[in-house]
Amino acid sequence: MINYSFPLYRPPAEADNIILQATFGCSHNRCTYCSMYKSKRFTIRPIEELKEEIGILSYRYPDANKVFLADGDALSLFIEHLAKLLRLLKEAFSRLSRVSLYTTAQNFLEKSVDELKFLRAGGLSLGYFGIETGNDELLEKIDKGVNSSKMIEALTKAHEAGIKISSTVILGLGGLEHTHEHIRDTIKLINAAPMTYLSTLQLGLEEGSVERFRRSFNAFTPLNDHQILQEQRHLLSELNPPQKIIFRSNHASNALHLSGTLPKNTSRMIDEINEALRIGEGAMVPKRFRGF
Ligand code: SF4
Repeated sequence: MINYSFPLYRPPAEADNIILQATFGCSHNRCTYCSMYKSKRFTIRPIEELKEEIGILSYRYPDANKVFLADGDALSLFIEHLAKLLRLLKEAFSRLSRVSLYTTAQNFLEKSVDELKFLRAGGLSLGYFGIETGNDELLEKIDKGVNSSKMIEALTKAHEAGIKISSTVILGLGGLEHTHEHIRDTIKLINAAPMTYLSTLQLGLEEGSVERFRRSFNAFTPLNDHQILQEQRHLLSELNPPQKIIFRSNHASNALHLSGTLPKNTSRMIDEINEALRIGEGAMVPKRFRGF
């Protein structure tokens, strides 16, 4: 039997893939906007337990070729533990082409490039990485645990090791009071750090997180959809990344869905934003269909 511990989260792109909980919870678990793992104590699951679940999953889905390692930051596992797990996955799924997981900057910083290369050689190919913002003051307010230069260092290490990165930025994270510096410094960070994919989400707080999130702000005025799209436009218009990036804003939280490659499709996506701003609500995803 698979011993899933709920709530269980995975990125939208992993919807059809095998999910294996290498850990329960998140080793950081302090970000003020995130309530995903607040009900769980961070636990490293023993290899024997995982081996049994891999056996069941590979029996049920012998042709599966992609595996997502949950929960919040499975890259926090010790190298030997993760390497053993990757070996078991390779042995069990003969068609395995991708192993992915959620990561934090701290996870990369704690490991050397050689150790990351070793994991890459073992099959670890993609990390989902929450940038959220490039502004140091906001990063401190949300208790992310790192500043923007540490984020750049972590992303550069991942790139050197050959591990692809899918990053997220949260629009509206600084409220109206910090909208300018949020986007200005996020642009700086993305323009300085290598990544393969980038997505934008819209800030959405669950009831239990609102008070904790707002406590670190003197004043916080949430952005409306119009202001969010202005942030989106500002971000896209000044991005000039060191390599091409596949961009998406197709999360359940987004008022406007966009997709393209940066910088090739930047002007087309900006036209789409301008058109949505001109039309207004009728051009956006109705609020009842959105979630975080
Ligand atoms: S590192 Fe990720 S999962 Fe952990 S608390 Fe922060 S946002 Fe949530």
